[in-house]
Amino acid sequence: MLVSFAEEKTGECVVCCHRCGAFLMESASTTSYMVCPECGARLVVCVKKGKVSVFDDTRSEEELAKKRHARLTRYAAKINEIVK
Ligand SMILES: [Zn+2]
Repeated sequence: MLVSFAEEKTGECVVCCHRCGAFLMESASTTSYMVCPECGARLVVCVKKGKVSVFDDTRSEEELAKKRHARLTRYAAKINEIVK
């Protein structure tokens, strides 16, 4: 795990990939899922109170696919309603 501290000036933390060290983002406070542009790792980024945590997004492909499917199903239902 990579942990760095906020610059006192801005309160923003620099977030880097914990696998390859690539720059990901600067943020004062966030929790987000992203893919590293360098190594393609799926990451969870947490910035809170000047501390940065980066760890692997351990959600399985299956779980992600299920979520995607649920979303698509909702869209489809909406479209059906509009068409009716
Ligand atoms: Zn990386």
